[in-house]
Amino acid sequence: MVKFSGKGVYGAVAVGRVSVFARQEAAVRRIHTDDPEHEIARVASAKETASEQLSAIYEKALKEVGETHAQIFEIHMMMLEDDDYNESIENNIRTQNVNAEYAVAVTADNFSAMFAAMDDAYMQARSADVRDISNRLIACLTGSSEGSASWGGKMIVCADDLAPSETVSLDKDRVMAFVTAFGSTNSHTAILARNMNIPAVIGAGEEFLAAVKDGDVLIVDGHTGELIIDPDEDTVREYLARQEDDARKKALLQELKGKPDVTADGREVKVYANIGGVDGIGAVLANDAGGIGLFRSEFLYLESTELPTEEQQFSAYKKVLESMAGKKVIIRTLDIGADKQIDYFGLEKEENPALGMRAVRICLTRPDIFRTQLRALYRASVYGELGIMFPMITSAEEVEKCLAACGQVRSELKADGIPFSENVELGIMIETPAAAVISDILAPMVDFFSVGTNDLTQYTLACDRQNPRIEAFVDTHHEAVLRLIEMSAENAHKHGAWIGICGELAADTSLTERFLRMGIDELSVSAPFVLPLRKKIRSLDLSAED
Ligand code: PEP
Ligand code: MG
Repeated sequence: MVKFSGKGVYGAVAVGRVSVFARQEAAVRRIHTDDPEHEIARVASAKETASEQLSAIYEKALKEVGETHAQIFEIHMMMLEDDDYNESIENNIRTQNVNAEYAVAVTADNFSAMFAAMDDAYMQARSADVRDISNRLIACLTGSSEGSASWGGKMIVCADDLAPSETVSLDKDRVMAFVTAFGSTNSHTAILARNMNIPAVIGAGEEFLAAVKDGDVLIVDGHTGELIIDPDEDTVREYLARQEDDARKKALLQELKGKPDVTADGREVKVYANIGGVDGIGAVLANDAGGIGLFRSEFLYLESTELPTEEQQFSAYKKVLESMAGKKVIIRTLDIGADKQIDYFGLEKEENPALGMRAVRICLTRPDIFRTQLRALYRASVYGELGIMFPMITSAEEVEKCLAACGQVRSELKADGIPFSENVELGIMIETPAAAVISDILAPMVDFFSVGTNDLTQYTLACDRQNPRIEAFVDTHHEAVLRLIEMSAENAHKHGAWIGICGELAADTSLTERFLRMGIDELSVSAPFVLPLRKKIRSLDLSAED
């Protein structure tokens, strides 16, 4: 039993097996073949290997986790033999003259999208399974080692740090906790862990990473940041009891579902949730959020190996709007750059990427990419209550250009007879000190502000949010940040705009009262924080003196 500690960024406990994150090999490439039959034979042989692996895992799981949990591997074996699945791979090879790996990857995309779109929850769950068997097949085709990440059970992912593009590549259904040697509280790994409702400990140090191996049993306490490798039985029992305690507290919160987000003295506040993609909707609905206050659309781009087309984006936005059934959905336009790098954008290396070409700066210099996204957004707008917001604004000129790009897209759609909603709200993120300081100038131009406290804190305190060495200098309650929010709220209301907060600070219940007294109209948080925030709001009485 060896103990380490880091910083807990999401309070929950996990006990499970470790998978040390191995950096992904190159993505599957499309390669032309003149010998499709050879590729089909390669698939047949890979299938045999995959099938042998699965039956070995099934036997292991049967012994270790029992029949109910082992059944999934039987389902995987059946899926591997499915006629439609196999025909699709063969057809792709024969008609497109492509390599086996590519044909499997395309089939996986199509089938998993098809399952995900089904109404039946059981069938939807098969979407992850189809990806899984396809990944296994591709691993067999490329001869890459199975590694513990392909162990079928849940795993605790341990890594030096995880870039957003790497976290999106993880099979999230299998990840029960994250531990990183480095990383900072506001990093996207930490945000993802909160979104996924799983414990995460960051900054565990290099020694931890050197000590931990694939398959080790590990306890992760996201409350305290404690990590215990190879715990003894008594310790496991103690932590499982803590896990149950957490579950009991969570169950109590369920009673708040369906209750309004209103303070004891009757002030209504909107409590929305943040998502990174269509797969986040389940958690938003399960936690009874009043809407989506931030859809980080860049994850659509991060998950892809090329620019997502207008159609692909349209279908994702439409799905989110339809699922929210008339509740507000605020989609943020592409926010890449800084820590969110995408190879196919070919962004030049920068000395200070957080101060460089990111977010709206990219959109305004690549109008083709911006136009495609805006077209997809406006086309989807007829399926619900859409708001569009622009990140990293620093000037009125940028806002003017964003609004003009929207106007241009609306005119094009009108001319082509393509329907769109006339009621799309347009807003900006207040996440630079510049935007907050000129919020009196910006407010009359837009319908709403949404404060990105992660970046606002980074830029106000001059503390790189990715740099763990300066965490001690980051005072998340710094008066400078709070005053900038307050100033923005006053200016928003003076000019008839509403204001929300969608950065991580929105979930900090020690600030809820202060935010409400500032007049904040909406708080958008990771889905698991919706009910704790509702509880806090309902306990507040703003009629009482400060
Ligand atoms: C923020 O900066 O607070 C924000 C919500 O955006 P992101 O964390 O994606 O940069
Ligand atoms: Mg931001």
